[in-house]
Amino acid sequence: MNDVIEKNIKLIAIYGRVSTSNQENEGTIETQLAAVKDFSKKNNYTIVQEYLDNGWSGDSIIRPALDQLRMDAKKKIWEGVLMYDPDRLARRYSYQELVMDELREAGIEVLFVTTSTPKNEEDKILYGVKGLFAQYERAKITERFRLGKIRKVKEGHVLTTEAPYGYHYVPNQKIPNQPKKHGYYEINEEEAKVVKMIFSWVANDGLTIRKVVRKLQELAIKPQRSKRGVWSTSTLTTLLRNKAYIGEAHWGSSYAVAPEKPIKIQQYKKIKKTSRRMRPEEEWIASAIPVPKIIEREQFMRAREQLKRNFALCQRNKKNEYLLAGRIQCSCGRRRTGEGPMHGKHLYYRCSDRVLSFPLPSACKEKGINARIADRLVWQKVAGLMSSPELLVKQVERWMNTKRAKTKSPFADITIMEKEISKLKDQEERYNKAYGAALFTIEKLKEYTGPIKERVAALESQIIKAKQEAGRINVDDLPTKTETKIFAREAQKTLYNLNFEARRAIVLNTVEKVVGTQQQLQVYGYIPVTNHVKFKTSYRNHRFTQCR
Ligand SMILES: [Zn+2]
Repeated sequence: MNDVIEKNIKLIAIYGRVSTSNQENEGTIETQLAAVKDFSKKNNYTIVQEYLDNGWSGDSIIRPALDQLRMDAKKKIWEGVLMYDPDRLARRYSYQELVMDELREAGIEVLFVTTSTPKNEEDKILYGVKGLFAQYERAKITERFRLGKIRKVKEGHVLTTEAPYGYHYVPNQKIPNQPKKHGYYEINEEEAKVVKMIFSWVANDGLTIRKVVRKLQELAIKPQRSKRGVWSTSTLTTLLRNKAYIGEAHWGSSYAVAPEKPIKIQQYKKIKKTSRRMRPEEEWIASAIPVPKIIEREQFMRAREQLKRNFALCQRNKKNEYLLAGRIQCSCGRRRTGEGPMHGKHLYYRCSDRVLSFPLPSACKEKGINARIADRLVWQKVAGLMSSPELLVKQVERWMNTKRAKTKSPFADITIMEKEISKLKDQEERYNKAYGAALFTIEKLKEYTGPIKERVAALESQIIKAKQEAGRINVDDLPTKTETKIFAREAQKTLYNLNFEARRAIVLNTVEKVVGTQQQLQVYGYIPVTNHVKFKTSYRNHRFTQCR
């Protein structure tokens, strides 16, 4: 057993976190800090820094104060970190372990009020088992909670007090000597009229959701809750799918997910799952809640069919070829998305603010960019850079020079390369561990370790070559300037004759982002240049292309 000698530490940092939801029974940040400070006083620690994440869930370890703490750990301004319980770091045990390992590697002692820090291997195993049980316990509680909800729904309880648009919620009342009555929904006459109108617009007049939004805006009818005071297309889609209006209340028709394409790319998110996705209708749980109906079933079904038809006809669902899709941004920082008005005759990259602020006017005044022109300009630039003879000659020369320098001192060079290989292998091992701890998917793992593996393979073959070439300088078999120029010309031809799919693949690989207005496109990218002598290098580029 290798016992760790306990360091006599004095200067500590403290960390505290509480989430916004009541899921975690954790008290307030004040009670947490009081316990931590009390413990620190008893042990004669001096608190030099406080790190607090107030209102952050333990689902993710990406939190501002925790990040700061992890960064500061390397600065050696304190020798230990004290927190109330390991679960303050993260709810998942593997995440806790990851952060703790990192801190310990930086020479920082990790201390808890509720449990002692593992001192030896045996302790560590015990601690791990405890962590897993705690995690299991939480999963069990969540599951029990979910089953409880389902039972309640089936018994006819209304789980949310927020009634759907068109209804009031009447809370349950306890009248002495009378059987308990559950809370229920009652028709809100004013709103029910609007619901009838919306269904009729779609089912009878064949209106699209966007047209419904506009009509409601014109009539100054506001939704129940909305910061902007206008209906959103998603609220209306949900409304038109809600079977409560035909007297069939359901529960669990949607679930929370982390958004796939967030509108704003934020570094820190208090809640990860801010988006909702619909479950297939077979999985909805019918409840025994009696809901008075507002719409006839027949009309409800007709509206549903109309929405399906609208969707099929929608121009926006037509697949047009947008070379820069997903890469092009507006100068205001939002994404630009491909849009094809006039039945796809003219394709534009439009600032997504237009869609997001609908039906209100867009805050961003930047105009759409003609997609065909932008695609052509960017592609010309990318292809030009990839087949520039000047650039290629420069790279060949650079490569030759380094090769000459290397062959002069092959042995020293081999040691450096071997050191780098061992470093890279450590790095790969860390990713493997993180994958083992289920921090990301196998695809992500491949994405992370792929380049490392490539680099290791490249270094290994370089070592073999360097060993072979030790003492003999031979750079005569390299392409001459003329040969490089011929190659560049060939590359140019190939690049200009590529089809859309191939161009798109190259754009996705080389272009990080394009920031554009009607006047100017700024291309940010990373162009790997590979040619027949198998040298690889990279070139960071930032160019302006004037729009014609
Ligand atoms: Zn914009």
